This record gives sequence, C-alpha cells and structure tokens, in this order.
Amino acid sequence: MRPPDRCAEPASRRLTLDRARELVLAALKPLEDTERLPLDRARGRILAEAVRAPLDLPPFANSAMDGYAVRSVDQDAGAALRIVGTSWAGHPFLGHLGAGQCIRIFTGALVPEDADAVVAQEDARREGDSIRVAVPMRPGDHIRRQGEEFRAGEALLPSGKRLGPADLGLLASGGIHELAVRRGLRVALCSTGDELRPVWQPLGMGEIHESNRQVLKALLVELGAEVLDYGTLPDDPEILKQILSEASSLADAIVTSGGASVGEADFIVEALKARGHLDFWKIALKPGKPFAFGRIGSAALFGLPGNPVAAMVTFRQLVRPGLLRLMGAPASTPLRLRALCANWLEKSPGRLEFQRGVYRQDPGGSFSVTGLPDQGSHRLSSMSRANCFIVLPLENSGVAPGEPVEVEPFDELC
Ligand code: AMP
Ligand code: MG
Repeated sequence: MRPPDRCAEPASRRLTLDRARELVLAALKPLEDTERLPLDRARGRILAEAVRAPLDLPPFANSAMDGYAVRSVDQDAGAALRIVGTSWAGHPFLGHLGAGQCIRIFTGALVPEDADAVVAQEDARREGDSIRVAVPMRPGDHIRRQGEEFRAGEALLPSGKRLGPADLGLLASGGIHELAVRRGLRVALCSTGDELRPVWQPLGMGEIHESNRQVLKALLVELGAEVLDYGTLPDDPEILKQILSEASSLADAIVTSGGASVGEADFIVEALKARGHLDFWKIALKPGKPFAFGRIGSAALFGLPGNPVAAMVTFRQLVRPGLLRLMGAPASTPLRLRALCANWLEKSPGRLEFQRGVYRQDPGGSFSVTGLPDQGSHRLSSMSRANCFIVLPLENSGVAPGEPVEVEPFDELC
C-alpha cells in the first residue's frame, strides 16, 4: 500500500520563506574563534576588531596633476616663474622655492613645503626655463592634502566588516599587512541519489551526471568557506546517518542536496531526526519546497532539494544568509528592483515563486524584465541564461505584459 501523501497539507500551513529565514538566523550564532591572516588571504573574511590607521594617507601632500608646483602669492598676471627643479613620483624635490620660482611636478609627487598650489601643465605656457600661468593660482589647487583620506589614529574599518577588494586596498595603503579575522567556515557538502554518477563516468540506464556539487561548491568557495566534500551518497538511510554524524563533528555546517522530498527514497529528514534535530521542513516556495533545516551536534544542516534550480534558489535565500550569520557578517538583504514585465508569466497562487528572467535598464532609466521560457526546477540552463530572479508573491496568480514585478538581480557568478 502507498504511504499517505505527506505533501497533501494545504500550502497555507507551510512556512513562508521569510519565516524560514528568520528561523535559520535565530538558530545560528556567529563563531567566536579568530585568526590572524595576511591581507592576501583575507578577502571575504569578517574583521574581528576595529582597525585604526597607523599613519596619515596620503602621508605627504602630493600633486593631483602633471604640471608645476607654485607659490600662489606669486600670482602676478603674466609674470614668468622660473623652474628650479623637478619633483617626480618617488623622487621628491628636496630644495626650496623662492619668490617667482616653481618646480616641474608629476602626479603623485611630493609638493614641497614652499609651494601651495599646482598649476596643470595645460594651464601653463613653457618658455625655456620658465612658465607663464594664464589661470588664477589658488592655495590648495590640484594638491592632495596630507591625511586627506585618513589621519593616523582614525578608525579605518569597523569590526564585523566583510572584507572586499577595496577594504584590502585601504588596509594596504595604511601599511597594515596582517589582521585579526573570524575564522573561516568549514562546510561539509554532499549530494544524495542512487541515480547520480560522477561527471567523468559513462551513464547507464536511468542515470544522470551529478551536477549540484559543482554549483554548491562554487557558491561556498565564493563565500570563503573551506569545503569538506563528501561526494555523492546513495539513497541509504544508514549510510546517510553515519556520514552526516561524522561530518557534524568536523564541520560548522552541512549542506546536502537531494533526498529531502517526500518520496520513499528521501532520507535526509529521517537522518536529521535520528541523529540531531529537525527545526523545519518544507517551505511555501517554488522552486525549493522540499528544504529541511536542523542541527546535528553543533553543526547546522541545510537539506537542499535535488532539483538543480531549487538547490540554487534555496542556497541563495536560506543557506547563504545562514552561513554569513555563522561567519559573523552583518545581516543584509539582497537588492530588489521594480521592473515592467515584457511577457506573460504563469503562476498559481500558494507559493512564493522565483522565476528566472533577464532584466535590463531602459534608456529612460526604468527597468524591464523578460521571463525565460523554461521554468522547470530541473532546467539549470534557465539559471545560466538569467541575470535575475523575478520574485512573484505567494498570492500572485500570473503576470500580464506591462505589469510591474519585483526582480532580484544576481551577478554573472550568482
Ligand atoms: P530529489 O530531491 O532527490 O528528489 O531529486 C530531485 C531531482 O533532482 C531528481 O530528478 C534528481 O535526479 C535530481 N538531482 C538530485 N540530486 C542531483 C544532483 N546532485 N545533481 C543533479 N541532479 C540531481
Ligand atoms: Mg533523490
């Protein structure tokens, strides 16, 4: 006899995505351990302490232009200024400027103390060893002041900042080469399914190549996590229980794909209940309904659906925010824009839906979006072609051309 259809409960009793995200965030606390890392290994990490600037930046007044460093008091319409030296970037002029004198100067070169303005070379006429300046010379013109960017002792970056390329550059410019950051996450990853074969293996009848681990590993690496790859596991509850228990003792979080649905070969929820705690299962979300979240020991377990698009949607909407919380990153919500839909979108009420689309900015500045034709949760090509999700609310029952919708852009690396 077939077991009762566990999927038959009304959608209204299923969790909303927002509530599911709240539950994930409430269940997870940032890891406290920190480590010291050199700058070139700190990208994406969370700063564990506020950083103060050890020096002024720029460390010295320097020229913003190629031109001539002058004394603005010498502004005497038409009078020639004699060039008495050159200040190159990295090779400063160390002499003095007297009345009626100037020096040749290049961008980034030290402005000598006697000078208080730079005249751009296109505003000066060269006459042998002298120049004539046809424009007003005002104190400070084309000079980048010492400490203009930051002063020694000033707060440079706050604790909790997730370090991006600009932050790393800012720290480097302050002469900081090592920092205290929260330790990186260790995330165990596996996919489950008897039909899944490694990418290099020929397929037998009824088999497909395993692809979710490629996607998920790339997304985890992008978050800066160390991935413990457990490969593809069979649909065997005992093996799953054993491997998940083992992974929970080594990893901060476990991400599984497949086996979280309601079929007779879906054992993630059973394993989670047997070895840990199931916090929730199934969301009013499309694609991504069969998502499970819980804990085994101290590790959070994210049980993603096997369908490739559903796995990507739930990763972005639930796993990513959860892992960022564990990392100690400040909470953030993805940008969403209002766009006019160019085509018909089919949808039944009952679940929040993330359809794949291509959005663009129109010449007037507003956005429009075209839904892609292949919206099946197994159609990974729709993710590859899309540059955004079209987010259709739970109660929405379809969109006509010209109607406004919300889009959530993702970059080409999603
Ligand atoms: P499941 O969630 O295990 O019921 O799987 C749902 C669908 O996704 C099935 O068609 C599976 O064959 C497919 N699937 C599951 N895991 C993967 C994977 N790792 N790579 C590619 N497809 C998968
Ligand atoms: Mg399966």
